[in-house]
Amino acid sequence: TQLPADPILENSRRQVEKACFSYVTPKHTAKPELLHVSSEMLKNLGLSKEDAQSEEFLRVFTGNTVLPNTKPYAMCYGGHQFGNWAGQLGDGRAINLAEVEHNNKHWAIQLKGAGETPYSRNADGLAVLRSSIREYLCSEAMHHLGVPTTRALSLALSGDQVLRDVLYNGNPDYEKGAIVCRVAPSFLRFGNYEILAARQDVKTLKTLVDYTIKHFFNHLGEPSKETYLAFFNEVSQRTLDMIIHWQRVGFVHGVMNTDNMSILGLTIDYGPYGWLEGFDYGWTPNTTDRQHKRYRYGNQPNIGLWNLYKLANALYPLIEDTQALESILDTYKTDFEVKSLVMMRSKLGLETEDVFDASLIQDLEDNLLLTETDMTIFFRKLSDFNKEEVSEGLEIVKKAFYISTEITGEIQQKWDAWFQRYAERLKQEQTNSKVRKENMNLVNPKYVLRNYMVQLAIDDADKGDYRLIDELFQLLKKPYDEQPIYEKWFAKRPDWARHKVGCSM
Ligand code: AMP
Ligand code: MG
Ligand code: MG
Repeated sequence: TQLPADPILENSRRQVEKACFSYVTPKHTAKPELLHVSSEMLKNLGLSKEDAQSEEFLRVFTGNTVLPNTKPYAMCYGGHQFGNWAGQLGDGRAINLAEVEHNNKHWAIQLKGAGETPYSRNADGLAVLRSSIREYLCSEAMHHLGVPTTRALSLALSGDQVLRDVLYNGNPDYEKGAIVCRVAPSFLRFGNYEILAARQDVKTLKTLVDYTIKHFFNHLGEPSKETYLAFFNEVSQRTLDMIIHWQRVGFVHGVMNTDNMSILGLTIDYGPYGWLEGFDYGWTPNTTDRQHKRYRYGNQPNIGLWNLYKLANALYPLIEDTQALESILDTYKTDFEVKSLVMMRSKLGLETEDVFDASLIQDLEDNLLLTETDMTIFFRKLSDFNKEEVSEGLEIVKKAFYISTEITGEIQQKWDAWFQRYAERLKQEQTNSKVRKENMNLVNPKYVLRNYMVQLAIDDADKGDYRLIDELFQLLKKPYDEQPIYEKWFAKRPDWARHKVGCSM
């Protein structure tokens, strides 16, 4: 195989051909300062709380010390961005430090915001505090929600100033630089395979696919066309399962470009993500996607499929069987229908199946729109509904409505009719209401990282107060539990945050 480029001689921005990665050295930072550490991830990596307090920990996880016998590197990948092939992208501001085996698990450790790489193109390789807080808190929160995701070990200030925006008066708006250490079994993306296929470098493509199967899909067996198909099939299923989880908790990724699609089916790259507040299939947190809304909530399953078509194209040279690939993609479509119905039934506490469930769910979704209804609060409250007291239904979920006017007339009728229907449907269920409530509360979180919550943590952090980062971190470790001391976070988005959306970069 081709050796990667020499990092000393060639750490310049460039096209990196016939290679999967380039060795790089993280940047020295002015005044590194640790802001938060995930104790779960420490444990997963075999590190102690004392380790995390050491100077060495700080230096390693801000890129200021390279561990002996390790060679940090940045990966080469391409991607389809907003529907168009974008060519080489790569780890422009992510640097893989090392890999760790602990308790029979394999972890790749990566710094985000640790400086330039050959893939930085026209950007600086750095990250600002606000986007780092967003990634740090959200990736750990997603894990505790049971959503497949990359994890985070630490959040640190670099001590450097980073420039993202210019103020209206023309002055530079410097922000605090930060570095998140994120962790996953692998950070490989669809785009890692696409770039090699686009360059018709089938040899390196095969090397990478064989590596991926050997290390992460070993149960599929030795390389062969059948194994490659089984690999694509599993990636397809994992991608769908991940997206069904997103739909369940109301998470909108915001930038489902193929370079942000993990080959392991993990949620990766927390940029302009957001959480549904008012239930709305058309909502996207991404301000640069407001016109076409390609990455809106309701379109995520379709985009997952679109991205899988791109991966299928990339893998084609190794498989050369269009029909077999298409049949896997067709299965995604039918599985999506089935799995989303199963997921929605679980949110409604339905364990049996009824042919009219899809229409019951459709009617509910129509109603949720009528009253601009907070998704998280609605489903959490719904578990208190008693089929013997249909007329109480509206009162029980009212806390979730953003429309402030009294619910009367046609809207009231529609809600009453729906609760009537739901009550009838619940009569077919075997489980009692106590068990149903418990089961519903296992799939309908009480707490999610609402956009305004993370914004409050960011505003405080900008002023040097990091306590809210820890409070949200602790809260979101148990998103399905009642946590009386945190009851204030079980609330609708405040009015001031109405038109605020997720930010990126
Ligand atoms: P994203 O939209 O965050 O998924 O990034 C798309 C591409 O832009 C990836 O190749 C990133 O590595 C690169 N990128 C984003 N921000 C920066 C930055 N500040 N410096 C260098 N590369 C960046
Ligand atoms: Mg990305
Ligand atoms: Mg990003």
